[in-house]
Amino acid sequence: MTDREYDVVIIGSGAGGGTVALGLAPLAEQGRRVLVLEQGPRLADEEFTGQEIEMAEALYADSGGFLTADGTMTLAFGQVYGGSTAVYTGTSLIPEPRVVESWGVPGLSHADLAERCRRFAGQNNVHLLEPVEINENNTLFAAGCEQTGFEARQFPVNVKGCRGSSLCNLGCPNAAKQGTDRVQLPAAERRGVEVVTRAEATRIEEKLVVVRVSASPAGGKGGPSEWEPGEYRVRAGAVVVAGGAIGSPALLLRSGFGERLPRLGEGFTCHPAFILVGEHSREITNDVGHPKSYYVDRAVEEGYVLETCMYFPFVTAKSLVGFGATNEGFLRAFPRLQMILVLACDRATAGNRVAVDSGGGPVVHYEFTDEVVRALTAGTRASARIFFGAGAARVHVPLASPPELLAAEAGEIDERIRPEHFLAGMVPVSAAHLMGGCGMGSSAGDSVTDSWGRVHEHPWLRVADSSLFPDSLQINPYLTIMALADRVAAAIREDAIR
Ligand SMILES: Cc1cc2nc3c(=O)[nH]c(=O)nc-3n(C[C@H](O)[C@H](O)[C@H](O)COP(=O)(O)OP(=O)(O)OC[C@H]3O[C@@H](n4cnc5c(N)ncnc54)[C@H](O)[C@@H]3O)c2cc1C
Ligand code: SF4
Repeated sequence: MTDREYDVVIIGSGAGGGTVALGLAPLAEQGRRVLVLEQGPRLADEEFTGQEIEMAEALYADSGGFLTADGTMTLAFGQVYGGSTAVYTGTSLIPEPRVVESWGVPGLSHADLAERCRRFAGQNNVHLLEPVEINENNTLFAAGCEQTGFEARQFPVNVKGCRGSSLCNLGCPNAAKQGTDRVQLPAAERRGVEVVTRAEATRIEEKLVVVRVSASPAGGKGGPSEWEPGEYRVRAGAVVVAGGAIGSPALLLRSGFGERLPRLGEGFTCHPAFILVGEHSREITNDVGHPKSYYVDRAVEEGYVLETCMYFPFVTAKSLVGFGATNEGFLRAFPRLQMILVLACDRATAGNRVAVDSGGGPVVHYEFTDEVVRALTAGTRASARIFFGAGAARVHVPLASPPELLAAEAGEIDERIRPEHFLAGMVPVSAAHLMGGCGMGSSAGDSVTDSWGRVHEHPWLRVADSSLFPDSLQINPYLTIMALADRVAAAIREDAIR
């Protein structure tokens, strides 16, 4: 066991950890020792090949197929330098005032979050794509919305020099997507923050982090760790946990913090989602161009959000319910497929939580509420209308039996797409907006941290990531996570001055 000493240790290098790292760069420049520990590897630019299977293995936890405890939903999250920002699509939204206000976190205002979100949007080159950059998978969605009376809004995205390869979720092979791996972390490192990859924080004790540094696996992507493989005890004046909505609660739980924090791990939400496909009679530009340009926000009215999306063959195959000729037909029609993601705006519910198994590994307990099933049903019906409004010949819908609707059956959408067809474990649900587990609030009775990420009763310990959300955000979360993490960095800088 090797001993090391730092002023601040940040655990995790994603949207939250990367933001804190840059926020603490002024301290590093003043000679304070700031360390980021990242469990995943650091890849060289040329290792981003866009190949589905190898990139999923290299960038995601469990290759993107982490399952909830009862096996009914897959959760996608990154495990690499930059965390999930290395694999996100980069749609960049500012939260709605109604959502932040409904959380009722003392000391947290929408105005403060929105101001910080706007600053990061500038830092990450967030802008609207020009019409010429938008492919048919997206323009057909907008056209279908217009036909059917839905309001399609354009997503701002954070790209610079985007070449439209549509591979954002496999790690951009063109260094165009402006995640923390491209922007905040390299800037922090240039200013003296140390980042150690392949370094997993296995346990936290009072002002101490126990770390396991792993050797590179034979044949795997990514460079070796900056430290020699082995076990380390890292002492720190302040510890910031930013391992994501699964990693952070799991680390704190296996370190024993649950005894004094009954809400630790509770309040997990994730925007459970369906990937739907509609087949056109001609080839469309779907996997050429940026994948995500439009969305429809029906969170208030019907509890769902629709987004354009484009997935690769393996993910598409696993998103089709059932087996056999119909599915094979949809996959063979890949160049003619249009895709829509339906996200349910789930709410923090008793029982939906992150726990740990006997070995300290994360376990996510999640049950679909009737509200979620209703939202997915309404969103699926809306998507079917939009597909047909855009001219699709047939649509694959997991909530119909059989799961195929022809254009001639468009008048039967409400009868055919039914909540009764939602059979957990039989319908392919996935989620990538993982939130909660270390929610903000007033005291240990109702939450894990205060509005500055300080863990109740442990002033040296803070959380700075998506686990801070007391309830779901109802939109794409990364800018809000950066804003929350920025507050954590500001509070630590303030502490350092005192
Ligand atoms: C495929 C996909 C697409 C997405 N698209 C969008 C989008 O378009 N717009 C949007 O707003 N959001 C999007 N998201 C969501 C967004 O990326 C995440 O919400 C955000 O990155 C979460 O930030 P975080 O800091 O909480 O965790 P992450 O970014 O997941 O970072 C956590 C990091 O901590 C590391 N870690 C965990 N535990 C430990 C430990 N014990 N020791 C050391 N390291 C540890 C992990 O390896 C990981 O790198 C997407 C997510 C995915 C997966
Ligand atoms: S679409 Fe743009 S941002 Fe996405 S992977 Fe391709 S070049 Fe990168």
